[in-house]
Amino acid sequence: MGDCLFCSIVSGKIPATIVHETDKTIAFRDVNPRAPVHVLVIPKEHIDSLLAIKASHADIIADIHQVVQAVARQEKVDEKGFRMVVNNGKDSGQAVGHLHYHVLAGRKLGWPPG
Ligand code: 5GP
Ligand code: ZN
Repeated sequence: MGDCLFCSIVSGKIPATIVHETDKTIAFRDVNPRAPVHVLVIPKEHIDSLLAIKASHADIIADIHQVVQAVARQEKVDEKGFRMVVNNGKDSGQAVGHLHYHVLAGRKLGWPPG
């Protein structure tokens, strides 16, 4: 995808602090962290959003969840707790049209989210 910000991070055109990588997935620090730990986990393949996930993406989605586990362990928040969030659409505040999972931790997280 030519103009996609996160595809540019995958290709290395835009720099990011990568904390974990597999053949299908990368995890990097959010540029505007909303918690002491704020990592974005994204598929290397461009997928627009949660609504665009198909059965054929099953391996990618499983890999993303494994990377979330790895990030939680690496950041040492696996025991204390963390939240994985996918914003989808206007009301959620989704700003980037490339599927991404937020991993937030390192402080008490409010529930329900605002
Ligand atoms: P959304 O609001 O779409 O769920 O989340 C997009 C996230 O991407 C935001 O938390 C925002 O701070 C982050 N973000 C936007 N541009 C960049 C960037 O260039 N680099 C990084 N590392 N994060 C970004
Ligand atoms: Zn993309």
